[in-house]
Amino acid sequence: MGIELDTSAVARLRAAVTGTVYVRGEEGLAAEISCFNPAIRHDPDIVVAVASEEDVVEAVGFAREAGLPVRVQATGHGAEAPIVGGMIVSTRGLDRLSIDAEARRAHIGAGLRWAPVIVAAAEHGLAPVTGSSTSVGAVGYSLGGGIGPLARHYGFTSDWVRGFRVVTADGRIVTADRQTNSDLFWALRGGKGGLAIVTEMTLELVALRSLYGGSVFFEGGAIEPALRAWIDWSADLPDEATTSIALLSVPDLDGPPPPLRGRTVLSVRFAFPGETAEGEKLFAPIRDAAPVYLDFVAEMPATAVASIHNDPEEGGPTWIRGFMLDTFDQDAGDVLLELAGPGSGAPFLAVEVRQIGGATARDTDDGSAVGGRDSGYTLSLLAADPSTFAEAAPARAQAIADALRDRISAITNVNFAGDLADRAAFEKVWPSAVQERLTATRTQWDPDRMFAFGPA
Ligand SMILES: Cc1cc2nc3c(=O)[nH]c(=O)nc-3n(C[C@H](O)[C@H](O)[C@H](O)COP(=O)(O)OP(=O)(O)OC[C@H]3O[C@@H](n4cnc5c(N)ncnc54)[C@H](O)[C@@H]3O)c2cc1C
Repeated sequence: MGIELDTSAVARLRAAVTGTVYVRGEEGLAAEISCFNPAIRHDPDIVVAVASEEDVVEAVGFAREAGLPVRVQATGHGAEAPIVGGMIVSTRGLDRLSIDAEARRAHIGAGLRWAPVIVAAAEHGLAPVTGSSTSVGAVGYSLGGGIGPLARHYGFTSDWVRGFRVVTADGRIVTADRQTNSDLFWALRGGKGGLAIVTEMTLELVALRSLYGGSVFFEGGAIEPALRAWIDWSADLPDEATTSIALLSVPDLDGPPPPLRGRTVLSVRFAFPGETAEGEKLFAPIRDAAPVYLDFVAEMPATAVASIHNDPEEGGPTWIRGFMLDTFDQDAGDVLLELAGPGSGAPFLAVEVRQIGGATARDTDDGSAVGGRDSGYTLSLLAADPSTFAEAAPARAQAIADALRDRISAITNVNFAGDLADRAAFEKVWPSAVQERLTATRTQWDPDRMFAFGPA
């Protein structure tokens, strides 16, 4: 399967790059492009594991000559379907990081995960606005917008991006920021793909050393009153605080903390980047709602942000479906309890509802392509038992979607949308005016659609 690559052109590419070139069948290729979800195995014709911006230029030149589609992968956290054929540019080697503390800027290489950025920024009392998991790639995440545990206070992460360096489809290295190539800058903040290969991102950091946050867990008969209290309480929460819930069916295996193993629990997450006393006061109604099984909400260093959601560090086979909701009221709570709650027989490991709004509803003054600003909540359904992926998980997700259809938003942010090769999913990730402008921007910067993205 696949195409015949010109071996002398491959040899020239190998000689030209400082990184590593793998063609199909070569040792090391699979490891270079492994995905967070190991059930997804890519099968490209060629992989260029770039070590510099110049390597990206060489890779793009090779792909252009060979007529190959090009896709980009950093961590593989975003892989939703196998990539078959073409070139993958693996950016893991683009790991340069510098912090300009005075200007509160981080210059982040495209291969970096959030974790090292958090550590480096903290040395200056600063923090990047990140997602729930710090092993996600900073650039891939921000290209989709990025909705994190502090989203209501700080907005989308892409709102804090101040510039990109990219390699274009015609092999040029250009910058995109407010002043230069501002159309491309608009598109890269939320437009995700099909535009250019980002080699470096400049992110404004926020002054944050500590926050009041974490998660509490409810189990058994406490789950329903806690969920119901959360629904009413979150509706009136000030924009400075961000919260989410997750109904978790924790497997009885090594890995999760022993008190959680084999139990169904409701986790209520909270993040407040203000005074501890005020955070305690804000969070008190949740602690009073029902007997708390485990309580990990406290003052924490900003570097511990990943402990708010406790996403798994190691990937595993997963099936995922995401939506955004305009509202999440007690009727929606009924649906969740009936179709995904304890004893419902739902095949999900996690059912997560994040409240957004606040700063996520406010666009940057120069505008950006992010989808989902008008929504109030995200809903993610995640199954981990492969025997449920074909039927049980999709069928139960559909039943939940049907029951919530009046609340499901017209738009689902691209980072939550699943497989973008699915035309129906792709058409929902941006409002139509944004879709049109993105298509025009993609056509301008990549007229031959070399940077394959979305439905074929
Ligand atoms: C455990 C987990 C937690 C998550 N938490 C959140 C969250 O809290 N909030 C949220 O918004 N999202 C979240 N996500 C979704 C995540 O933001 C997306 O999956 C994102 O695409 C991952 O980026 P990556 O670079 O790590 O992944 P990759 O699979 O390496 O890349 C994903 C995509 O990003 C694009 N891309 C990556 N690098 C480049 C580049 N240099 N140039 C051009 N395009 C590039 C490509 O289109 C690529 O297909 C989470 C995902 C996981 C698995």
